[in-house]
Amino acid sequence: MHSTEKAAGKVRDRYAPSPTGLQHIGGVRTALFNYLFARSQGPDGKFLLRLEDTDRTRFDERYVQNLYDTFDWLGFRWDEGPDMGGPAGPYIQSERFELYKTYARELVGKGRAYYCFCSPQRIEEIRKQREAARSGESGYDRHCRTIDSDEAGRRAASGESCAIRLKIPLGETTRFHDRLLGDIEWKNDDVNPDPVLLKSDGFPTYHLANVVDDHLMGITHVMRAQEWIPSTPLHVIMYRSFGWEAPVFCHLPMVMGQDGKKLSKRHGATSIDEFRKQGYLSEALVNYIALLGSSYEEGRDLYSLEELARLFSLDKLNKAPAVFDYKKLEWYNGQYIRMKSDGELAGLILPYALEAGLFGKDGPDEGQKKTFTASMSLIRERLVFPGEAPAKLAYLFAEPPPPPPEEFFPKKAGLAETITLLEKVLPLVSKMALMNDEDAEQYIKDAAETEGVKLGDLMMPLRVAITGARVSPPLFGSLRLLGKDRAVSRVERALEALRGL
Ligand code: GLU
Ligand code: ZN
Repeated sequence: MHSTEKAAGKVRDRYAPSPTGLQHIGGVRTALFNYLFARSQGPDGKFLLRLEDTDRTRFDERYVQNLYDTFDWLGFRWDEGPDMGGPAGPYIQSERFELYKTYARELVGKGRAYYCFCSPQRIEEIRKQREAARSGESGYDRHCRTIDSDEAGRRAASGESCAIRLKIPLGETTRFHDRLLGDIEWKNDDVNPDPVLLKSDGFPTYHLANVVDDHLMGITHVMRAQEWIPSTPLHVIMYRSFGWEAPVFCHLPMVMGQDGKKLSKRHGATSIDEFRKQGYLSEALVNYIALLGSSYEEGRDLYSLEELARLFSLDKLNKAPAVFDYKKLEWYNGQYIRMKSDGELAGLILPYALEAGLFGKDGPDEGQKKTFTASMSLIRERLVFPGEAPAKLAYLFAEPPPPPPEEFFPKKAGLAETITLLEKVLPLVSKMALMNDEDAEQYIKDAAETEGVKLGDLMMPLRVAITGARVSPPLFGSLRLLGKDRAVSRVERALEALRGL
């Protein structure tokens, strides 16, 4: 394995979401890749979770819960946290605010950052003036950068309200190497001019907390979405200003809809909750998301989380944007449904079946439970979502509503002929209900031949009598599950109805 990572020893990476929204495809792709990369290193890899909740105005506890639920459901586990005594929680930035202050002041001490005493009104004023002048400039005008540092220190110490801003070295170029995209360089003059690190209320900005934490947590690889590339020069400047070694940066390709635009609600579901509610299996989602921007083995589609963790490699990331294909994801769901045992699948479908009132109001009795579990083999092959199952299975638990008479008619046959066909098939039913598929098929084929009718012409009215529809789960299995008495009585009932016309 070509792996500079391995040679270098330990890998520590992290998922660092801001809990300002529900977990969505893009975020989870970042989480998954970091998780897989750490796991791919065996005991030498550690995956950390860090809540970047510095923006308290957009914070919502609900989003934190959603993050935990998503991790639980998808089977991601982080490796360590601040309180190793009990179950380790993730790192939470709002619990570390004092730390960020210390580091911001350290940068001021080094002459790499400075106190800014500008009022919000003044900042707003510059913005307006620049807009009016159409100067093309944006951001802060570096007004306080030239204040004598001793004087600034005294003013700050005396309690004057101030922020701390990073001093971006002017006239220079900042270069960094992206593990996936190669060398990237930005002219410092194009970087956000002297961004705030610590706000006047003592809260850190994203940039400060992010860089300080990545350093303190020993993060070796920062794998994140490409939209963070513009922040990276700033981060690199911060690492240099602190005198710290920067981690390896690896910016992941965009995830787009099929129209080539960034994946969004317009394309369909994007939050993990929505997919879950639609009946996607976590295995299918993990498998599909893992392919958004990476490959594993040639010609292979299906991977478990463990297999992905074994096979993941930074060398197999793609630079090109990934296209999210909802149809493909459905295909994956169908595949994972096929891998479920009868018992597992029944467990997945049960909530939908209860909601659909499949068994009557007291829930399934023992007999119904057995039928329900056994019925999985009838529908598994064509199922995409568990929620589709109850409608397909309803005829096994209650008499199907009588279909319109024409439903019974095989092609080119009328009422009289259909009655005759049903009369021919009736005596076969009780035996077929005791036979396996092969024997039942042979039995009805022989009968068709003896009677001189087409097999399909015997099957169609029987199918409609038994299941209530021309398109249904396999007929022979249905006969077995209904049992001979119920099967026979359905055919008799159908005959009665048709004769009465
Ligand atoms: N808090 C940032 C986010 O919400 C983290 C970006 C990063 O990984 O550095 O995506
Ligand atoms: Zn200022």
